[in-house]
Amino acid sequence: PARRLEGTEKNIWVELVSLASKYQTVNLGQGFPDFSPPAALKEAFVRAISEEDSGLNQYTRAFGHPPLVKILAEFFGKLFGRYLDPLSNVLVTVGAYQGLFCAFQALVDEGDEVILIEPFFDCYEPMVQMAGGTPVYIPLRPSPAEGHKPASSADWRLDPEELAAKFTKRTKAIVVNTPNNPLGKVFARDELQVIADLCTRHNVLCFSDEVYEWLVYDGGRHTRIATLPGMWERTLTIGSAGKSFSATGWKVGWVMGPDQLLTHLRTVHQNSVYHCPTAAQDAVAYGFQLELERFGEPDSYFVQLREELQRKRDRLLQCLTAVGMRPIAPEGSYFMLADISDFKAEVPAPEDCDQPYDYFFVKWMMEKKHLAAIPVSAFYAPDHKKHFENFIRFCFVKKEETLDAAEEILRSWR
Ligand code: PMP
Ligand code: GLN
Repeated sequence: PARRLEGTEKNIWVELVSLASKYQTVNLGQGFPDFSPPAALKEAFVRAISEEDSGLNQYTRAFGHPPLVKILAEFFGKLFGRYLDPLSNVLVTVGAYQGLFCAFQALVDEGDEVILIEPFFDCYEPMVQMAGGTPVYIPLRPSPAEGHKPASSADWRLDPEELAAKFTKRTKAIVVNTPNNPLGKVFARDELQVIADLCTRHNVLCFSDEVYEWLVYDGGRHTRIATLPGMWERTLTIGSAGKSFSATGWKVGWVMGPDQLLTHLRTVHQNSVYHCPTAAQDAVAYGFQLELERFGEPDSYFVQLREELQRKRDRLLQCLTAVGMRPIAPEGSYFMLADISDFKAEVPAPEDCDQPYDYFFVKWMMEKKHLAAIPVSAFYAPDHKKHFENFIRFCFVKKEETLDAAEEILRSWR
């Protein structure tokens, strides 16, 4: 194998997705909805592939299907408060995943450092490494008020001095993910401002992964770091139609930012993927057209999904609390962490256990209880996993029947 693959061979999803199906679990593991995207989008997809001579079964523009980049530019232009040029400020990618990959490949060089905030969506780490860069880690830490009830993702914060000390001459970029996967933390404007100030002071780029941007609960706000002073020029904002429209299998994502950065991502894209599936892009364009007309209204899918998921969050929160798992209420995203320390006596790891406790516990729970979740140490640096092995992540973007089945398992646990 090529040397750049060294240390990136293992992947939590490859391992756990197969176990979840092997043990026929009720699956609150991998983050995807087990219900359909909105009917209007599915119909648009079918139209795209069915109409004679629509051209939508063939290649489209490499950097994004014209109707999609046009509507994305219009839609997000309003949110960023600036004119976006569809052809130069938007790049469509195969999911947010490929958008992230393009960003790291295009802008991170051998010897560059990239700051990752723990817990982080796992793929950032191998993507930095494959680009030849070095990840530098900083944890979100639960505040001293920890233990007060109810626990919230808002309790987890960065220490500004610790963060400042991570910026060096070699720092190329920092990755921000808000709402965060797996914690569900929504970074407040003042927290983002601290990051932004450091980026501008040290001339550092920001890769802002905002795939859960519509899922902020309890009336909270999603702040786009690219809108803070001096940040547009140095920020790439990454989004996902899979997450926005509950269509993760369509794998349509995008990166938005200034042309002088995006031009390099286009180089990576044209030399690897070249273009993304046309029909899926066409249907997503249609979805955004509808969302633009209904923005913030009760019939907006983004509004409806958020409201539905807030109810599901509250339901899972109650249920986990009832069985003694000590959940942390997420302010956003569709994930919830639960502290499993109290289960160590009941479910002890074997003496010679060579994995963090949460891995052991999750595998045990899949096999014995037929319930799947994700060990949270998967979202930490190799050296830090041992210190964060008492949490597991549940995904609640699931049908009521699935949540019923999970609740049944949890309530009859003991
Ligand atoms: N970023 C985060 C934080 C995610 O949770 C996901 C989920 N897969 C992705 C990126 C990738 O999104 P996509 O499915 O659009 O590739
Ligand atoms: N983002 C989803 C999660 O965190 C899916 C991850 C994946 O499939 N790699 O569960």
